[in-house]
Amino acid sequence: MAKVKCVSCGSDRAEILISGKLLCPKCSRQEILHRVRRNLGRSGINLRGSRVILTYPEFYRNEANLLKSFIEKVCSNCNFTIKEIEISGDGQVNKVMRDLVLTSIRESENQVILPFTADFFAAYLIYSSGSPEGSYLSLYGLRSKVSDKVFISPLYDTPLTELRGFSELTGELKTGDELFNGIIEWLHSEFKDNEVFHTFPPSIPVIVSRFATCKRCGALTKSEYCRACSVELALEK
Ligand SMILES: [Zn+2]
Ligand SMILES: [Zn+2]
Repeated sequence: MAKVKCVSCGSDRAEILISGKLLCPKCSRQEILHRVRRNLGRSGINLRGSRVILTYPEFYRNEANLLKSFIEKVCSNCNFTIKEIEISGDGQVNKVMRDLVLTSIRESENQVILPFTADFFAAYLIYSSGSPEGSYLSLYGLRSKVSDKVFISPLYDTPLTELRGFSELTGELKTGDELFNGIIEWLHSEFKDNEVFHTFPPSIPVIVSRFATCKRCGALTKSEYCRACSVELALEK
């Protein structure tokens, strides 16, 4: 294969395309760290002296660990604690997302960090397009709110394919949901230039805006509470 120069440092090991720039692994890692730093700033999250939780399904464990190391780097003297909560990744994606939200809102911390990447949200949009109701597309974006908790996704605009410079990641995502896995595999094989992951997910807020969000779990709904929460709340009475 012909050697291609990194547009940032000029070395001839360029192999990773990030925001239209072909970079070597080392420069790609710097670019991603820079993006995460900027996103954390824009999110309004207050790390200094605070306690935050990082909640993730087991299939996002490596990415969550990486994200944790980014945050520690970005705010190295901030004296904050990150509590990690890993939940099961078994079953359908909507069930996993529901577990994740309900687990997070039971904790005392008010700021929740999520590891989800742009390609996850792109696949989730396709996955949910037949029936968005009951999905958690409402979590798309840098910052969202469920109940009284703030959810921050610093990787929401970065697909896994832009994280290939980090050797600790496999670049694959194997959820417990075969349909979802098929969609994400198709997106990865069909759109190798990553552009789709920057242009496609912004249509999610347009779809989300057609719905209300469940007051308890944040799922898209047509009423005050989603169907699953309505059932659970009725049982609690
Ligand atoms: Zn470089
Ligand atoms: Zn709900």
